[in-house]
Amino acid sequence: MTDAERERAQRVDAVLPTLRAAAEEADRLAAFPTTHVGLLRDAGLLGLVVPEKFGGLGGTLRDLAAATYAMGTACPSTALAFFFHNTSASRGLLPLEAIEAGLFADDEIPIVQSFAEKVLTRMADGVWLANFASESVKTAAANITIATTARKADGGWILQGEKSFGCATGVADYYLTSAKLAGYETAAGLATFFVPRDAPGVSVRAPWDGLGMRATANNGIRLDQVFIPDDEAMAVPGAFTKMLTMSRGSFVGNQLAIAAAYTGCAQHVYDETIAVTTAKTFADTGEPISSSPVHQVLIGEMTRHLQTAYLWLRYQLTIETAEPPFKPKQDVFTQWRLGKGAVTEACFQVALGAFKAGGTSAAAMSGVAGRALRDLAMGLVMTFPAERGMLEVARIVTEAKANELFTTAPTEAAR
Ligand SMILES: Cc1cc2nc3c(=O)[nH]c(=O)nc-3n(C[C@H](O)[C@H](O)[C@H](O)COP(=O)(O)OP(=O)(O)OC[C@H]3O[C@@H](n4cnc5c(N)ncnc54)[C@H](O)[C@@H]3O)c2cc1C
Repeated sequence: MTDAERERAQRVDAVLPTLRAAAEEADRLAAFPTTHVGLLRDAGLLGLVVPEKFGGLGGTLRDLAAATYAMGTACPSTALAFFFHNTSASRGLLPLEAIEAGLFADDEIPIVQSFAEKVLTRMADGVWLANFASESVKTAAANITIATTARKADGGWILQGEKSFGCATGVADYYLTSAKLAGYETAAGLATFFVPRDAPGVSVRAPWDGLGMRATANNGIRLDQVFIPDDEAMAVPGAFTKMLTMSRGSFVGNQLAIAAAYTGCAQHVYDETIAVTTAKTFADTGEPISSSPVHQVLIGEMTRHLQTAYLWLRYQLTIETAEPPFKPKQDVFTQWRLGKGAVTEACFQVALGAFKAGGTSAAAMSGVAGRALRDLAMGLVMTFPAERGMLEVARIVTEAKANELFTTAPTEAAR
């Protein structure tokens, strides 16, 4: 880590005791502790990945992954909600890079630039921006399908639709919302809007009763004829897809910081298991519980799974942040389709080991093992399951090979 990264990490370290102290109760109540917003804001962390010239701390994906990892050891729900706020920065940084790369026409640049800078300065000013992309409408072809529509009105846009999941529902100051412009049927029509939390027509969906990650306020919203003024929208056709071409990873990038949050959770339940099983002793032999053959096997497997998660995560971080880049974007994408599943499955196995090592007395809804098992189960389904990533990679690998098979015949074959 550089000195600047270390300084930013110290800010994260400083909030961990408060996150840790509130985690169990927040999980029990399935409620995001709203005082965490002020805590993270006062620490300057809402601007963690915003460049200093826009008032932020100037962190990169390395800082974000380190932060969600560290927060994941204390309160995985807060880590995840914090991730989604930070990924909003991509809607500022990537459009600015696309302008720089000459992807926008002269008359589009002021609109795109003004929106992008607004995203970044608001974050740096301590405004919480939830990120609402996911919807319950599904298509076979895509991970995320946007059915929410934006219709042009005098001076702005009218939004109509429903967002199925979104951390910090009812907590964030704005919901940074994706919608498709009326009349467009492709991703070129995707647009982004600042939807104020209390805007007329915005309502919270039924409370989300998740299995794990329960304190993320992940309810989602309905948008019923919500008016958003022109200057709170980035509705330039093609802007979204141009922005995506600038990311180093899949989608808008940053996704590995979600896996880092889950890895932090896995490290914590691992540490707790080692601490408990080495402290408690057998009444007859006086040896620690951890010395039993069963615990030795479980701890060995947990260690292997934890190291597996770190290896995939560290490699992904390296290929998404190394300067100069040493992998083409397609390879970074393919690696992530495998890596997301590999990390989250390995983390879940750590919790499963902890669950077995703790026995019936630790098999409770609360407590470190019970909570980690539930929280880490969410990693298995979130975004896409491991199997889906592997299928995509299998297709990429085999299609590449099949294409190689179409080659020109040697001259003698034509005789
Ligand atoms: C704790 C938590 C917090 C989240 N926070 C946010 C957030 O802040 N913002 C946000 O935008 N999203 C958020 N999400 C949403 C998340 O990324 C979703 O997992 C994502 O939208 C995909 O939903 P899904 O397909 O897993 O689930 P569902 O929408 O429930 O899908 C139902 C079923 O359809 C299957 N399916 C869907 N599409 C396909 C396909 N193309 N091919 C095959 N099967 C398919 C799924 O595997 C699943 O079996 C959050 C999720 C979780 C768990």
